[in-house]
Amino acid sequence: MKLIAANWKMNKTTQETKDYLEKFLGLVEGIDGVDILICPPFTSLCVAWEILKDSKVKLGAQNCHYEQKGAFTGEISLDMLKDLGVSYVIVGHSERRWIFGETDELINKKIIACLEKGIRPILCVGEKIEDREAGLTLKVIESQLKLALSGLEDVSDKIDVAYEPVWAIGSGNPAMPEDAQLVHSYIKELLGKVRVLYGGSVNPKNASDFLCMPDVDGLLVGGASLDPLSFAQIVKASCADKA
Ligand code: PEP
Repeated sequence: MKLIAANWKMNKTTQETKDYLEKFLGLVEGIDGVDILICPPFTSLCVAWEILKDSKVKLGAQNCHYEQKGAFTGEISLDMLKDLGVSYVIVGHSERRWIFGETDELINKKIIACLEKGIRPILCVGEKIEDREAGLTLKVIESQLKLALSGLEDVSDKIDVAYEPVWAIGSGNPAMPEDAQLVHSYIKELLGKVRVLYGGSVNPKNASDFLCMPDVDGLLVGGASLDPLSFAQIVKASCADKA
């Protein structure tokens, strides 16, 4: 099943979350055959779960800490997230890697912790523009995957991978669907039958161009997920593609 995921980043108060989700659930009513995921900020998880718990829309978090509890000021554990209805966590988003200095080793610890707790991680990988220009895209992706999954046996059915070229995120300049397809098929060559999402300037107009690629198994959407109508249109594009 395809996965269409919304990453709201640092956006929306609790009231804005309620207003969005009430509208969004109406817009996706009756849609089947696709996994839909909303990842609001931590502060909105509680109100989001109240609204989503009886629906088919799943709840995710944008980050987590790998320890169970303790002296880690400002961090959130997986038990705390599970308690709020979270079933997915985005791990290693490029904004975490490049703004907050997350290393591959830290990402590896988070993936291991998610798997131990039964929360499905969405592992984000992607090259910077200078890597792409130097012809290093596949090398970078391979290295990020190997380090993030180091010490783990085959986990291809327990995680999702999001291919998000750093230069495409929030830039209005998406990858060419054919270029994304090449990277997705390489990721599957390395990991086996894993679900691979594309992310980076997806919008209602271009969503189906990605979804019709054979190895694009879903989308991770930032900016265009902030409006319920726009995100619902992207969800619907995944169903049109199947028909
Ligand atoms: C993201 O942050 O994961 C993302 C893909 O953002 P955008 O859709 O805004 O490029």
